[in-house]
Amino acid sequence: MKLFFDHQKRIFALLGIITGLILVQACGRQLTPETSCNFVQNQNLQRVSWGSNTPVNIYMDSSYPAEYVIALTGAIAQWNNIGQQLSKKDFFRLRTGSPGASSPRQDGYTKIYMLNTWEDDRRIEQARTTVYWSGSQIYESDIRINHKDYDFYLADDRPDYSKVHLESLIVHELGHVLGLAHTHNTESVMQVSLANGKVREEPQSPDIEALQCEY
Ligand SMILES: [Zn+2]
Repeated sequence: MKLFFDHQKRIFALLGIITGLILVQACGRQLTPETSCNFVQNQNLQRVSWGSNTPVNIYMDSSYPAEYVIALTGAIAQWNNIGQQLSKKDFFRLRTGSPGASSPRQDGYTKIYMLNTWEDDRRIEQARTTVYWSGSQIYESDIRINHKDYDFYLADDRPDYSKVHLESLIVHELGHVLGLAHTHNTESVMQVSLANGKVREEPQSPDIEALQCEY
């Protein structure tokens, strides 16, 4: 992982940390390792993904502000474009209502939260995505956006160098939801860091090639 600082006050920070909860399979079947294709892999080195269980239903927690819904729908549309190209299926479907837990935890719902509290020792994170899987099948994911330490802007044609472009941030986190890991490829939306004012909202060929391994 790379962390950049420059000599001005612009903040370059880690863009999310992915954590996985590994649930050990009870069966004794031999599992064949797979190349990563930039996916997260389970302990048997198999890529974890939703497989054919797309579109993924996404819910907004009530903590997610209405003014920022457009960034979420924009980010979903970016990935759905790719899903349609690859398999004529959307990757995500935004659902109404806010079922499940009011703070991020494993509750059976894939939700996005915008939080005004954040751990002091993890202020470097602009967001954090948790992915839950069993075997190689992802069945839930939660996105936390750090609104305690970061401010966001929406317009992609007027960069604000004091804030994080929210759609770009969510595009990256949704990539984690699909199973993608970080990459150092500078064309990818899955790079670790996102500078203030940087717009990086469109998945590029490395991202599409990675997804082709699973979707
Ligand atoms: Zn990330």
